[in-house]
Amino acid sequence: MDYPPQRRLMGAGPSDVPERVRAAMARPTLGHLDPAFQDFMETLKTRLRRLYRTKNRMTFPFSAPASAAMEAALFALADAGDAVAVVVHGAFGARLVEMANRQQLIVHRLDVPWGEAPDPDALDELLRRHPDIRLVAFVHAETSTGVAADAAALSAVAQRHDCLTLVDAVTSLGGTPVDPDEWGLDFVYSGSQKCLSAPPGLAPVTISDRALAWMRERRTPARSWFGDVLEIARYWDGASGRSYHHTAPSNALYALDEALAVFLDEGHEAAFARHRHCHEALVAGLDALDLALLPAPAHRLPQLNAVRVPDGLDEARLRHRLLERHGIEVSAGLGPLAGQVFRIGLMGWSARLPNVLAVLVGLEDALKAQGRNFPEGAAAAAALAAFDRGIGNRNPGPETARPQAARAAS
Ligand SMILES: *Cc1c(COP(=O)(O)O)cnc(C)c1O
Repeated sequence: MDYPPQRRLMGAGPSDVPERVRAAMARPTLGHLDPAFQDFMETLKTRLRRLYRTKNRMTFPFSAPASAAMEAALFALADAGDAVAVVVHGAFGARLVEMANRQQLIVHRLDVPWGEAPDPDALDELLRRHPDIRLVAFVHAETSTGVAADAAALSAVAQRHDCLTLVDAVTSLGGTPVDPDEWGLDFVYSGSQKCLSAPPGLAPVTISDRALAWMRERRTPARSWFGDVLEIARYWDGASGRSYHHTAPSNALYALDEALAVFLDEGHEAAFARHRHCHEALVAGLDALDLALLPAPAHRLPQLNAVRVPDGLDEARLRHRLLERHGIEVSAGLGPLAGQVFRIGLMGWSARLPNVLAVLVGLEDALKAQGRNFPEGAAAAAALAAFDRGIGNRNPGPETARPQAARAAS
């Protein structure tokens, strides 16, 4: 490869990075303690707080992919021998369990069939049975299944049992509402490359004062040196003077900051609506191709669409044709869903009507190449019609979860 090919990134991440954001990476590299860079850090933190709609002082980008922030969050909020509850409704919940096991935590799993949403009452029952649990970890937007968990309701249950919450908002942040303050989430991490459409490799985190106090009171330091969140927070906070912890990846951070500027310019509600409308258009088009999504409508994430593979279809061949002929990346199924679904992402900058139409045209072509027949252009026409209607009520998205949250809180 002399130069990377131009793709449409419509898989499970990364998403397409706008030119303006990529160009930001070409700005001059600065030292991590340069006063000009420290000014920039403050701007970036302010933007991150606006993105997360939080007052949390400890809101900063972790210098590593989201999986590293996931691991650091566990190291920060629990120590070997501590009992934790982990909700597993897909591959990323399973990854949390794997990490927790390696950290020798005592893991109580709440297993949910993949494709379904976690039941807050089942969490309540688990916490009742195990009063020693002090931490509840769950994935808000399960990228492996396209399911949205009701973060507010799960958090309300955790709080009733006096547990801290560790929440994976990697795929939700920027695509659907994430409200750490309103929902009482204690440690939330995300990733730069999903609905924020920044280059991969950074993980914005926000930490409640409650979690911070817990971390400061713990008797033993976190068992990861690089992942010691308190130390990293000290560098990003700067209140007691900054000193070297690791070399901040300045150019990648410029890009993240620019991506936040793009997002905040558009506004939260407009961005969420754009994701919803593209999802509705996509679903209408998929329907015209006899393709169905895995999750029930009430729990669907607009930004990640797990499509069931029809009987007899070679989905690897389908994805190959999409990539090689149409320049479109979609993702395979993970774990037990490998071969059962393929995943179409509508994340961040990738969530635009031309992309929806392109993937539907590509799918129609790829399905026809495997002997299936559809009226020419029917999928794209259905998608356009749905987009124009701006269907408001077919998939209200994760907001439907609110009444349940209110119940759990009462
Ligand atoms: C992508 C993803 C991650 C991991 O992000 P990396 O940047 O690849 O480490 C974690 N959780 C969820 C829900 C994801 O979608």
